[in-house]
Amino acid sequence: MKYPLKAHADFVLKDPGLLSGKPFVNGDWTPGSGPLLPVVNPANGNLLGEVATLSPKEVAQAIGAAEAAFLLWRHLPAKARGNILEKWSVLIETHVDDLARIMTLEEGKPLAEARGEVLSSAAFARWFAEEGKRAYGEIIPAHLDDRRLLVLREPVGVAAAITPWNFPCSMIVRKAAPALAAGCTVVLKPAEATPFSALALAELAYRAGFPAGAFNVVPGDPEQIGNVFTRHPGVRKISFTGSTRVGKLLIGKSAEQVQRVTLELGGNAPFLVFEDADLEIAVADAVAAKFRNAGQACIAVNRIYVHESLFASFVERFAEKTAALKVGNGLAAGSEVGPVITETAFARLRTLVDDAVRQCGKVAVGGKPHALARETGGFFFEPTVIVNPSSGARVLHEEIFGPLVSILPFRNDAEVLSLANDTEYGLAAYFYTQDIRRLFHVSEALQFGMVGVNTTAIASEAAPFGGVKASGIGREGGRHGIEDYLEYKTVWAAGL
Ligand code: ADP
Repeated sequence: MKYPLKAHADFVLKDPGLLSGKPFVNGDWTPGSGPLLPVVNPANGNLLGEVATLSPKEVAQAIGAAEAAFLLWRHLPAKARGNILEKWSVLIETHVDDLARIMTLEEGKPLAEARGEVLSSAAFARWFAEEGKRAYGEIIPAHLDDRRLLVLREPVGVAAAITPWNFPCSMIVRKAAPALAAGCTVVLKPAEATPFSALALAELAYRAGFPAGAFNVVPGDPEQIGNVFTRHPGVRKISFTGSTRVGKLLIGKSAEQVQRVTLELGGNAPFLVFEDADLEIAVADAVAAKFRNAGQACIAVNRIYVHESLFASFVERFAEKTAALKVGNGLAAGSEVGPVITETAFARLRTLVDDAVRQCGKVAVGGKPHALARETGGFFFEPTVIVNPSSGARVLHEEIFGPLVSILPFRNDAEVLSLANDTEYGLAAYFYTQDIRRLFHVSEALQFGMVGVNTTAIASEAAPFGGVKASGIGREGGRHGIEDYLEYKTVWAAGL
């Protein structure tokens, strides 16, 4: 039996077999002896279901299963591994409706966004199904005639992945697919808030035909599991997406076994609107990139700087569009902004607004819990626009992770570049201009891993995604995404 001990009636699925409430280890659903994990619907506070968890000892056993599976999986030809990944991709696409519904129920995002995320997850699986076949080695010209010098690419080993709740499917596939394509096996700990999406992906991985132990999903206590991952000599790689605070902790702990790390951490994305920008496009893109997933994305727009000549009109248009956003349960037709994930996240938004107001910011739109919060018990916060807070305001320095943004004016390029770069983070930045010279000099001057020029659509399976400074280490996606799961082995041959 893999079904949750309790499953809310909202889980109406075309294929009920996708709903599981048990860890997936060594090709099977396991009861687990850890405490039950309650999962709450952020749109109404209802208990969605409970998921069984593993004790630290059982997590170590899951790693043991992944180690055993690695010995076989790594020797399967890349094409055969790719075929299974391709099947996984097709199954994810086929079940897009169910996966999207599960995601909206546990995460809160509008169904249309959830569908988009599911399809992007399938795209990652398909991309890496192909990319695994291109893990080319090298032959280096040797210094003597009887020598040959080869560089082989080998899978690093068991990869432990820890993923966040804000993109409950794509963050998993973006790690698991390159790892599996490279020949690694995976033990994944999903976020406490969104285990059902992860377990549905495990069911589909099982149906796709991954061998037992190749892909394991172990929901449970984050700190305990993090400790097992970092202390276990069988884990050769930690791939983490989440907060900078936890990322730093994991870097420290990974030192014990000298594990390789890929870290996708927080962001504080600036959005710059130069005097020659197309105002309507800039406003529309800024609204979309701020309020998607209720602002809970590491590349969400965090602060907007507008040239003084456009400032008043930008604020007016942005405020109009923000006020018109439809807040609601992600399952309801037409909802554009769902709830935030937890009561804590919800309460924090209020403190951020209060601080910004104390720091001379003017609330142009929103600023408080949405009426739906009282009516439904869900964590709905009004889409909020704050104008011109002073430089010490928390909203300018912290990752907001909610439907809240501030807008400030600037006078010239040098000033705005200095403001944009004045952050410990370096994930994504956006700017709007029609000046071809700025395309280069502003892109080059921004200290961020990804820059959108006249666009905020900067995530795709085809391109590397990742940050600099406190935003992380390594890249996911693109041909670069598989690199973090491959090791170099240099072979010197003599006497030939
Ligand atoms: P967020 O604030 O977005 O929830 P977190 O960094 O807290 O970000 O969570 C991201 C992932 O990290 C989740 O899967 C969470 O369970 C996990 N996590 C949280 N704390 C720890 C920890 N001490 N060790 C390992 N993983 C952790």
